[in-house]
Amino acid sequence: MTVTGKLVRVYQVDKQIRGLKSRLRAAERFLGEQSRLLGELEAKKVAIEGQLRQLTASASNEEGEASRVNERVEELRERMNNARTNKEYKALLTEVNTLKEERAKHEDGAIERLEKIETLRTQLAEIEAQHAERVRMTEVAASERKEREAEIKDRLKALEGERDQVIEDVPGSALQAYDELVEQREDEAMAPIEIADRKRHEFTCGSCMMSLPVESMSALLSHGSLTKCVSCGCILYLEENTREAMTPAAKK
Ligand SMILES: [Zn+2]
Repeated sequence: MTVTGKLVRVYQVDKQIRGLKSRLRAAERFLGEQSRLLGELEAKKVAIEGQLRQLTASASNEEGEASRVNERVEELRERMNNARTNKEYKALLTEVNTLKEERAKHEDGAIERLEKIETLRTQLAEIEAQHAERVRMTEVAASERKEREAEIKDRLKALEGERDQVIEDVPGSALQAYDELVEQREDEAMAPIEIADRKRHEFTCGSCMMSLPVESMSALLSHGSLTKCVSCGCILYLEENTREAMTPAAKK
Protein backbone atom coordinates (compact mmCIF):
# COMPACT_ATOMS: atom_id res chain seq x y z
CA MET A 1 0.00 0.00 0.00
CA THR A 2 1.20 3.52 -0.84
CA VAL A 3 1.83 6.25 1.75
CA THR A 4 -1.29 8.03 0.57
CA GLY A 5 -3.33 4.85 0.76
CA LYS A 6 -2.17 4.32 4.35
CA LEU A 7 -2.99 7.91 5.26
CA VAL A 8 -6.47 7.59 3.75
CA ARG A 9 -7.15 4.70 6.12
CA VAL A 10 -6.16 6.85 9.11
CA TYR A 11 -8.16 9.76 7.71
CA GLN A 12 -11.31 7.67 7.35
CA VAL A 13 -11.08 6.36 10.91
CA ASP A 14 -10.42 9.90 12.19
CA LYS A 15 -13.44 11.24 10.35
CA GLN A 16 -15.65 8.66 12.05
CA ILE A 17 -14.14 9.50 15.45
CA ARG A 18 -14.77 13.22 14.90
CA GLY A 19 -18.31 12.49 13.75
CA LEU A 20 -19.01 10.46 16.89
CA LYS A 21 -17.49 13.05 19.16
CA SER A 22 -19.33 15.94 17.53
CA ARG A 23 -22.64 14.87 19.06
CA LEU A 24 -21.02 14.67 22.47
CA ARG A 25 -19.43 18.08 21.94
CA ALA A 26 -22.80 19.56 20.99
CA ALA A 27 -24.33 18.10 24.16
CA GLU A 28 -21.43 19.56 26.18
CA ARG A 29 -21.92 22.99 24.65
CA PHE A 30 -25.64 22.84 25.42
CA LEU A 31 -24.96 21.89 29.03
CA GLY A 32 -22.39 24.68 29.34
CA GLU A 33 -24.89 27.21 28.04
CA GLN A 34 -27.60 26.03 30.46
CA SER A 35 -25.21 26.25 33.41
CA ARG A 36 -24.17 29.76 32.36
CA LEU A 37 -27.81 30.93 32.16
CA LEU A 38 -28.56 29.30 35.50
CA GLY A 39 -25.65 31.17 37.05
CA GLU A 40 -26.96 34.47 35.67
CA LEU A 41 -30.39 33.84 37.17
CA GLU A 42 -28.86 32.91 40.51
CA ALA A 43 -26.88 36.17 40.54
CA LYS A 44 -30.05 38.17 39.75
CA LYS A 45 -31.93 36.35 42.50
CA VAL A 46 -29.24 37.10 45.07
CA ALA A 47 -29.14 40.78 44.03
CA ILE A 48 -32.93 41.21 44.35
CA GLU A 49 -33.03 39.38 47.67
CA GLY A 50 -30.33 41.75 48.95
CA GLN A 51 -32.28 44.80 47.76
CA LEU A 52 -35.42 43.44 49.41
CA ARG A 53 -33.67 42.99 52.75
CA GLN A 54 -32.34 46.54 52.58
CA LEU A 55 -35.68 48.06 51.62
CA THR A 56 -37.58 46.09 54.26
CA ALA A 57 -35.20 47.33 56.94
CA SER A 58 -35.40 50.91 55.77
CA ALA A 59 -39.22 50.79 55.40
CA SER A 60 -39.59 49.60 58.98
CA ASN A 61 -37.13 52.28 60.04
CA GLU A 62 -39.34 54.95 58.42
CA GLU A 63 -42.44 53.45 60.06
CA GLY A 64 -40.66 53.52 63.42
CA GLU A 65 -39.69 57.15 62.93
CA ALA A 66 -43.28 58.05 61.94
CA SER A 67 -44.69 56.46 65.09
CA ARG A 68 -42.00 58.04 67.26
CA VAL A 69 -42.98 61.49 65.88
CA ASN A 70 -46.62 60.60 66.33
CA GLU A 71 -46.14 59.87 70.01
CA ARG A 72 -44.54 63.28 70.38
CA VAL A 73 -47.55 64.87 68.59
CA GLU A 74 -49.94 63.12 70.96
CA GLU A 75 -47.94 64.36 73.92
CA LEU A 76 -48.04 67.94 72.65
CA ARG A 77 -51.79 67.73 71.99
CA GLU A 78 -52.24 66.70 75.61
CA ARG A 79 -50.27 69.73 76.69
CA MET A 80 -52.28 71.97 74.33
CA ASN A 81 -55.47 70.83 76.06
CA ASN A 82 -54.00 71.97 79.34
CA ALA A 83 -52.41 75.15 78.00
CA ARG A 84 -52.86 78.05 80.33
CA THR A 85 -52.13 80.90 77.97
CA ASN A 86 -52.90 81.58 74.35
CA LYS A 87 -49.22 82.14 73.72
CA GLU A 88 -48.33 78.74 75.10
CA TYR A 89 -51.09 77.17 73.02
CA LYS A 90 -49.84 78.81 69.82
CA ALA A 91 -46.25 77.75 70.47
CA LEU A 92 -47.37 74.17 70.98
CA LEU A 93 -49.52 74.31 67.84
CA THR A 94 -46.53 75.47 65.74
CA GLU A 95 -44.47 72.61 67.08
CA VAL A 96 -47.27 70.14 66.37
CA ASN A 97 -47.54 71.35 62.78
CA THR A 98 -43.82 71.00 62.22
CA LEU A 99 -43.91 67.48 63.66
CA LYS A 100 -46.90 66.55 61.49
CA GLU A 101 -44.87 67.50 58.41
CA GLU A 102 -42.04 65.37 59.66
CA ARG A 103 -44.41 62.47 60.29
CA ALA A 104 -45.84 62.76 56.77
CA LYS A 105 -42.33 62.66 55.34
CA HIS A 106 -41.57 59.40 57.14
CA GLU A 107 -44.94 57.92 56.19
CA ASP A 108 -44.35 58.80 52.53
CA GLY A 109 -40.87 57.32 52.78
CA ALA A 110 -42.31 54.08 54.14
CA ILE A 111 -44.97 53.91 51.42
CA GLU A 112 -42.42 54.57 48.71
CA ARG A 113 -40.26 51.71 49.98
CA LEU A 114 -43.22 49.36 50.36
CA GLU A 115 -44.14 50.02 46.73
CA LYS A 116 -40.61 49.23 45.63
CA ILE A 117 -40.74 46.05 47.72
CA GLU A 118 -43.95 45.07 45.96
CA THR A 119 -42.36 45.55 42.51
CA LEU A 120 -39.25 43.62 43.53
CA ARG A 121 -41.28 40.75 44.91
CA THR A 122 -43.06 40.44 41.56
CA GLN A 123 -39.69 40.44 39.79
CA LEU A 124 -38.32 37.89 42.22
CA ALA A 125 -41.29 35.58 41.62
CA GLU A 126 -40.67 35.78 37.85
CA ILE A 127 -36.97 35.06 38.29
CA GLU A 128 -37.70 32.17 40.62
CA ALA A 129 -40.01 30.66 38.00
CA GLN A 130 -37.31 31.10 35.31
CA HIS A 131 -34.76 29.67 37.69
CA ALA A 132 -36.83 26.53 38.34
CA GLU A 133 -37.32 26.11 34.59
CA ARG A 134 -33.58 26.52 33.98
CA VAL A 135 -32.76 23.99 36.69
CA ARG A 136 -34.92 21.48 34.82
CA MET A 137 -33.21 22.34 31.51
CA THR A 138 -29.79 21.93 33.09
CA GLU A 139 -30.75 18.51 34.43
CA VAL A 140 -31.99 17.46 30.99
CA ALA A 141 -28.76 18.75 29.42
CA ALA A 142 -26.62 16.89 31.95
CA SER A 143 -28.41 13.60 31.40
CA GLU A 144 -28.25 14.10 27.62
CA ARG A 145 -24.51 14.62 27.82
CA LYS A 146 -24.16 11.47 29.88
CA GLU A 147 -26.30 9.55 27.38
CA ARG A 148 -24.22 10.76 24.40
CA GLU A 149 -21.07 9.73 26.19
CA ALA A 150 -22.40 6.26 26.98
CA GLU A 151 -23.78 5.93 23.45
CA ILE A 152 -20.45 6.42 21.72
CA LYS A 153 -18.22 4.78 24.31
CA ASP A 154 -17.94 1.32 22.74
CA ARG A 155 -17.82 2.49 19.14
CA LEU A 156 -15.22 5.10 20.07
CA LYS A 157 -13.05 2.55 21.79
CA ALA A 158 -13.23 0.26 18.75
CA LEU A 159 -12.32 3.11 16.40
CA GLU A 160 -9.44 4.21 18.59
CA GLY A 161 -8.13 0.65 18.54
CA GLU A 162 -8.47 0.61 14.77
CA ARG A 163 -6.60 3.90 14.54
CA ASP A 164 -3.73 2.55 16.61
CA GLN A 165 -3.43 -0.28 14.12
CA VAL A 166 -3.60 1.70 10.90
CA ILE A 167 -1.12 4.37 11.99
CA GLU A 168 1.54 1.75 12.66
CA ASP A 169 2.17 1.43 8.93
CA VAL A 170 2.38 5.15 8.23
CA PRO A 171 5.88 6.65 8.00
CA GLY A 172 6.50 9.18 10.78
CA SER A 173 7.04 12.20 8.53
CA ALA A 174 3.81 11.60 6.61
CA LEU A 175 1.89 11.12 9.84
CA GLN A 176 3.30 14.32 11.24
CA ALA A 177 2.30 16.28 8.09
CA TYR A 178 -1.15 14.75 8.33
CA ASP A 179 -1.57 15.47 12.06
CA GLU A 180 -0.60 19.11 11.56
CA LEU A 181 -3.20 19.46 8.83
CA VAL A 182 -5.87 17.80 10.98
CA GLU A 183 -5.06 20.29 13.71
CA GLN A 184 -5.88 23.18 11.37
CA ARG A 185 -8.47 21.71 9.04
CA GLU A 186 -10.10 18.65 10.65
CA ASP A 187 -12.13 16.90 7.92
CA GLU A 188 -10.46 19.06 5.27
CA ALA A 189 -7.00 17.69 6.05
CA MET A 190 -7.33 15.39 3.07
CA ALA A 191 -9.38 15.68 -0.08
CA PRO A 192 -9.90 13.60 -3.21
CA ILE A 193 -8.75 14.81 -6.60
CA GLU A 194 -11.74 15.40 -8.82
CA ILE A 195 -11.73 15.07 -12.58
CA ALA A 196 -13.00 18.25 -14.21
CA ASP A 197 -12.17 17.17 -17.75
CA ARG A 198 -10.28 13.95 -18.32
CA LYS A 199 -9.31 14.55 -21.95
CA ARG A 200 -7.94 18.00 -21.21
CA HIS A 201 -6.22 16.77 -18.04
CA GLU A 202 -8.15 19.20 -15.89
CA PHE A 203 -8.29 18.21 -12.25
CA THR A 204 -9.48 20.01 -9.14
CA CYS A 205 -8.98 19.73 -5.39
CA GLY A 206 -12.04 18.27 -3.65
CA SER A 207 -11.54 20.65 -0.75
CA CYS A 208 -10.83 24.07 -2.25
CA MET A 209 -12.07 23.33 -5.82
CA MET A 210 -9.00 24.99 -7.35
CA SER A 211 -7.36 23.38 -10.35
CA LEU A 212 -4.42 21.10 -9.85
CA PRO A 213 -1.41 20.54 -12.07
CA VAL A 214 -1.42 17.29 -13.96
CA GLU A 215 1.67 16.26 -11.91
CA SER A 216 -0.50 15.88 -8.81
CA MET A 217 -2.61 13.31 -10.58
CA SER A 218 0.33 11.44 -12.04
CA ALA A 219 2.19 11.35 -8.71
CA LEU A 220 -0.78 9.72 -7.05
CA LEU A 221 -1.41 7.35 -9.94
CA SER A 222 2.17 6.16 -10.17
CA HIS A 223 3.66 6.13 -6.65
CA GLY A 224 0.92 7.33 -4.37
CA SER A 225 3.49 9.57 -2.70
CA LEU A 226 2.45 12.35 -0.33
CA THR A 227 0.89 14.98 -2.61
CA LYS A 228 -0.50 18.28 -1.41
CA CYS A 229 -2.94 20.62 -3.09
CA VAL A 230 -0.97 23.55 -4.54
CA SER A 231 -3.70 25.96 -3.38
CA CYS A 232 -4.97 24.89 0.05
CA GLY A 233 -2.22 22.50 1.13
CA CYS A 234 -4.45 19.53 1.96
CA ILE A 235 -3.19 16.02 1.26
CA LEU A 236 -4.70 14.70 -1.95
CA TYR A 237 -5.83 11.16 -2.64
CA LEU A 238 -7.63 9.25 -5.36
CA GLU A 239 -11.00 7.67 -4.88
CA GLU A 240 -11.37 4.24 -6.44
CA ASN A 241 -13.67 5.36 -9.26
CA THR A 242 -11.29 8.22 -10.15
CA ARG A 243 -8.37 5.81 -10.26
CA GLU A 244 -10.34 3.47 -12.52
CA ALA A 245 -11.38 6.32 -14.79
CA MET A 246 -7.73 7.39 -15.11
CA THR A 247 -6.35 3.90 -15.75
CA PRO A 248 -6.39 2.86 -19.43
CA ALA A 249 -8.58 -0.21 -20.07
CA ALA A 250 -5.57 -2.30 -21.09
CA LYS A 251 -3.95 -1.87 -17.69
CA LYS A 252 -6.99 -2.92 -15.67
ZN1 LIG B 1 -7.08 22.45 -2.27
